Amino acid sequence: MADETLKAVDPEIAALIQAEERRQADTVKLIASENYVSRAVLEATGSVLTNKYSEGYPGKRYYEGQQIIDQIETLAIERAKRLFNVAHANVQPYSGSPANLAIYLAFLNPGDTVLGMGLPFGGHLTHGWSVSATGKWFNAVRYGVRKDTGRIDMDQVRELALEHRPKLIFCGGTAIPRIIDFPAFAEIAREVGAVLAADIAHIAGLVAAGVHPSPVGHADVISTTTHKTLRGPRGAMLMTNSDEHAVAINKAVFPGLQGGPHNHTTAAIAVALHEAAQPEFKAYAEQIVKNAKALADELLSRGYDLVSGGTDNHLILIDLTNKGIGGKPAAQALDRAGLETNYNTVPFDPRKPFDPSGIRIGTPAVTSRGMREPEMRQIGAWIDEVITAVAKGDAEDVIARVRGEVTELTAKFPAPGISL
Ligand SMILES: *Cc1c(COP(=O)(O)O)cnc(C)c1O
Repeated sequence: MADETLKAVDPEIAALIQAEERRQADTVKLIASENYVSRAVLEATGSVLTNKYSEGYPGKRYYEGQQIIDQIETLAIERAKRLFNVAHANVQPYSGSPANLAIYLAFLNPGDTVLGMGLPFGGHLTHGWSVSATGKWFNAVRYGVRKDTGRIDMDQVRELALEHRPKLIFCGGTAIPRIIDFPAFAEIAREVGAVLAADIAHIAGLVAAGVHPSPVGHADVISTTTHKTLRGPRGAMLMTNSDEHAVAINKAVFPGLQGGPHNHTTAAIAVALHEAAQPEFKAYAEQIVKNAKALADELLSRGYDLVSGGTDNHLILIDLTNKGIGGKPAAQALDRAGLETNYNTVPFDPRKPFDPSGIRIGTPAVTSRGMREPEMRQIGAWIDEVITAVAKGDAEDVIARVRGEVTELTAKFPAPGISL
């Protein structure tokens, strides 16, 4: 990616970008929220559109010179509407967190009550967690999962909703390995007169491909990032079928929270939406889930304790308690072996958030490289070998061997967008 001009102007940054490119190429990326964008998305992101100010919306801007930008943003909006089958889309939020903040600004006043999934159970910071502005400026109530099933406790959601009468309910999260029951959330929201926001940041690509049920027709507002399973640039979108909600959301994003939209990102989102509308993307999303199931089966057969017992989507949450090792040392050892994961809390985690009991893994990125079930079984075996060795306290040889084998595998599956 680092081209000749950048090398000449800033060799230091050029060399670092190249090193990161090498690292991404040679690593098995199992971070559930990451992916590899296409060369086309990278090119749109690195375009002259970054030079333009466009406060406002297509046809209603505060700066001149929008002849082209208006066409680009309109295309992105139309493609989002078609792909997700919604009446309105706002493609301007800078990322998932500001998109969610716009929902608060659109529907709540400070101090109002929001009901969201607790962070340790798989919710996102912006669903009302204590350290987030959303937990400080609003009265946040949190639901979790059932201890026996590891699945969202819908009885608790309803009880908390009836008790606290939230104005806003969030569903969706960052570490939920199972299908989200949008109709059940919608029924509870209706019962208490709350706005239901479905945050599909993790699963947007699966929803677009019809591999996970859509929240359309159930949620009042849909929030998503564009850079996870959807495989676009870092950005976000807000969608709704309600004309009234659309007005409130647009006002909240601009001028409520943001200034000029990032036009280079808008163009790259349009490209990603175009790619996601192709038949190949549906096959991709289906393979993500098949791969996650194959990886989960391999881990289960090796005695791993998976939260909720498995997965319906792209994500697996492993509770390492029975393996006698914490999530952090496990993730660090796996990273040295070329297997990139993140340590994660598990439901009812007795350990601290900075040193929790689990690791989270996902298949969107490895599936983008064309890996399938046989590679998933191999990856599951490597994870087991490294973790078993680390738990025994003697992992150096195993890590070195797996690192070599990982490099052999990644060489056979070039990552999209990376040309080394
Ligand atoms: C990733 C994520 C976000 C936040 O996205 P950022 O772009 O990191 O701000 C919000 N909600 C959920 C459920 C997410 O997974």
